[in-house]
Amino acid sequence: MSINKNQIKRLEILAPAGGMESIYPAVRAGADAVYLGASGFSARSSAHNFTDEQLREAVEYCHLNGTAVHLACNTLVHDDEIDSAMKLIEYACSIGIDALIMQDLGLIRLVRQACPDMPVHGSTQLSVHTPAGVEHLYRLGLTRAVLSRELSKKEIEEIAKDSPIELEVFVHGALCMCVSGQCYFSAMLGSRSGNRGSCAQPCRLPFSVRGGTGHDLSLKDLSIIEHLRELEEMGIASAKIEGRMKRPEYVAAAVAACRQGLDEGSVSPELAEKLSSVFSRSGFTDGYYEGKIGSSMFGIRSKENVAAADSKIFASIHELYKKERQHIPVDFCLTVKEGEKSILTAADDDGSSFVSEGMIPEKAISTALNRERCEKSISKTGGTPFWMRSLSCDIGEGLSMPASALNTMRTACLNGLAEQRRKIRPAAFSGYERAQTDTRRHIRPKNYRVRFADDDISDDFLDSELIYVPLLTDDRRLNNLLDRGFAVAVEIPRGMFGAEKKIYRDMKRVQALGINEVLANNVGAVEMAKSLDMDIHGGFGLNLTNTESLKWAEKQGIMDTEVSFELTLEQISKLGGIIPLGMISMGRLPLMLTRNCPVQNDGKGCQYCTYAHTIRDRKGIEFPMMCGMTGCTEILNSVPLILADRTEEIRGIDFEVFRFSVENSVEKGENLRLYRQHSTPKDGFTRGLYYRGVE
Ligand SMILES: [Zn+2]
Repeated sequence: MSINKNQIKRLEILAPAGGMESIYPAVRAGADAVYLGASGFSARSSAHNFTDEQLREAVEYCHLNGTAVHLACNTLVHDDEIDSAMKLIEYACSIGIDALIMQDLGLIRLVRQACPDMPVHGSTQLSVHTPAGVEHLYRLGLTRAVLSRELSKKEIEEIAKDSPIELEVFVHGALCMCVSGQCYFSAMLGSRSGNRGSCAQPCRLPFSVRGGTGHDLSLKDLSIIEHLRELEEMGIASAKIEGRMKRPEYVAAAVAACRQGLDEGSVSPELAEKLSSVFSRSGFTDGYYEGKIGSSMFGIRSKENVAAADSKIFASIHELYKKERQHIPVDFCLTVKEGEKSILTAADDDGSSFVSEGMIPEKAISTALNRERCEKSISKTGGTPFWMRSLSCDIGEGLSMPASALNTMRTACLNGLAEQRRKIRPAAFSGYERAQTDTRRHIRPKNYRVRFADDDISDDFLDSELIYVPLLTDDRRLNNLLDRGFAVAVEIPRGMFGAEKKIYRDMKRVQALGINEVLANNVGAVEMAKSLDMDIHGGFGLNLTNTESLKWAEKQGIMDTEVSFELTLEQISKLGGIIPLGMISMGRLPLMLTRNCPVQNDGKGCQYCTYAHTIRDRKGIEFPMMCGMTGCTEILNSVPLILADRTEEIRGIDFEVFRFSVENSVEKGENLRLYRQHSTPKDGFTRGLYYRGVE
């Protein structure tokens, strides 16, 4: 297929900015857009966020340069934080932010009500990694999906082929071990939730599998800058650089490398060297993009890596952004007539123009004013983002004017243009209507459900209201469960990388057996189930943490849903809405979902991964892993969650879910006994986050 170059939309280079000190390097090195965070969001502050004033300043400077500004509002909020989040969004509208990056399905609903014209991008925190996931964001009124970082080139191509909205792909920066939006590791270990922008990055600490390097949860940073033209040809809208926490020199080097990679087709060895010196973790990887997952993707920040980032490197990178980038073409027109005030007009391509009046020219005594002398003065645009593309002159004979007079007119014109470009263009923000909280009515007595990871299911569980079994369970086993009298729903895998077509086939297969209920942990899975007219039960992976997000679930026709296990019992009890709610109350909580099994880091790969695998922390605490579900591995908590003695304190919930993973049949039976007797073992269990909550 031949592609007409003119039809391809330019790939945007999107840079991170943790503060004003990173805005200048990003813009001057050639970013088309920047993304940043605001300290007002959900009342939490961080050193790497902008105050309201700085936000406005950033927008003005970026817009002067033709650079778009995306505001990251991509954390989950609680009911009592929604109004302050919406206040920030109202402010963002008032200062002409170009797009919002969002994760919270509840907030997205309100934003679509309050400011329908404001473009909203679905954050990578929404774990969208399939065509159906993108389709869902489109139906929610989002204009762009930021795809999961784990996708291969082939999978990205597949998604891009028919995408109804823009796509954004990470091209450089840190790789998390866990699929974004599915990580509860930091929350469980220290109450700092990655879903709320507070990740403490415990995965960079030593964790080891047998035969590994001892840093088996730490991946190298990704870099696919050499493939930018390829992404552009696929129709990807934006190339995202990770790193809002990183220093300005990193931002400059990464943007400059992207600019060069895209404009010139490759990055010079010199610039590539600067980029890896300023920050790397044992070099870079393109493993996910190339579909080559394995031990070569793992890496840590070594002493050599740290030493490489010395003052000499920083100084050489400063050169990249010392000066304004003169990249905005301006067409000038100069008229100098005898007896009239001279006039200089300037116009850019974005519709801004300015007319400056100067002095009445004098009679020339020696050399008369000519085009060459005028051009010399007017083309001096240093210190501004402008450059003179053309100058048309209408100069009378035998006239003279000092260079300073021409300079004054030029300066006035450029200032005038700059002022127009900086001018704030607010987006409309009207009211929004919040759903009532704290009003739940219970339609039925609380029951329990069980999620099984295999078909080792005892008849003791026959009094559960529903069981979830893997979608991939074969027909014979599913029929057996149905024959024994279980109410059966199938669980759509949380990670569906490149497997959507196969998953569709399996969904139709179980439908043919008479099973029409699914457990969906991803917006893509919700979309798939809807298209097959299946009954949907929402899972914890949807990260529903507030009443507005429950409204989203109601709107989708989801029958009932688990809430996020990052909520406290207190917060759960105050949720509103009418959709029946469930919570995980038993089992090992899933801490990570990763496409790169930690066992891969033993160098031999994980084709023999079994249930017996664990990963240990420095103190020898073991976290079990389940590998192999459609190419993803789940890392589970070291101890099981048990709330059986606290049922009285669980309020606002319609059903409890026992989430079994690595438990054997004895352990499953023991858990059921504890539930029935409202008791706990002496030790070796956790209450999860239901009492301590998250930051
Ligand atoms: Zn494995």
